Amino acid sequence: MSVPTTIDATLVAELIGVRDRAYAPYSNHPVGAVVESESGTRYAGANVETAHYKGLCAEASAIAAMVSTGERRLQRVYVIGPGEHLCSPCGDCRQRIREFATAETRILVLDAQGNLLRDYDMEALLPDAFGPENLGKPSFA
Ligand SMILES: [Zn+2]
Repeated sequence: MSVPTTIDATLVAELIGVRDRAYAPYSNHPVGAVVESESGTRYAGANVETAHYKGLCAEASAIAAMVSTGERRLQRVYVIGPGEHLCSPCGDCRQRIREFATAETRILVLDAQGNLLRDYDMEALLPDAFGPENLGKPSFA
């Protein structure tokens, strides 16, 4: 499975669109995510904040959309933030991605314009992760 060095314009437009629909009135830090499942279907999500500061991250939102359809394996996770800085997944999202990742899953973080900043595999994103196999469940990895 090849890893893209640039992200195609259609996907960048999808990422910018979902990021721009984020509900982030408290942090003013809109984030968009698109996850590509094993079937190649893309699911989008944005961060959704609440007044009591227990919002939902974009990655979690996109993964929830995927899982809700019955899909369980992540092929790619794309994350786009609002600026030039690296908007990498938070700790909670790293664990959430791990739950549905395989050894081939790639996590790609883009700047606000859609330029690729970082490309992680699961081991780089969350080394020695606690996963399903730690609880006697089959691992996708
Ligand atoms: Zn997160």
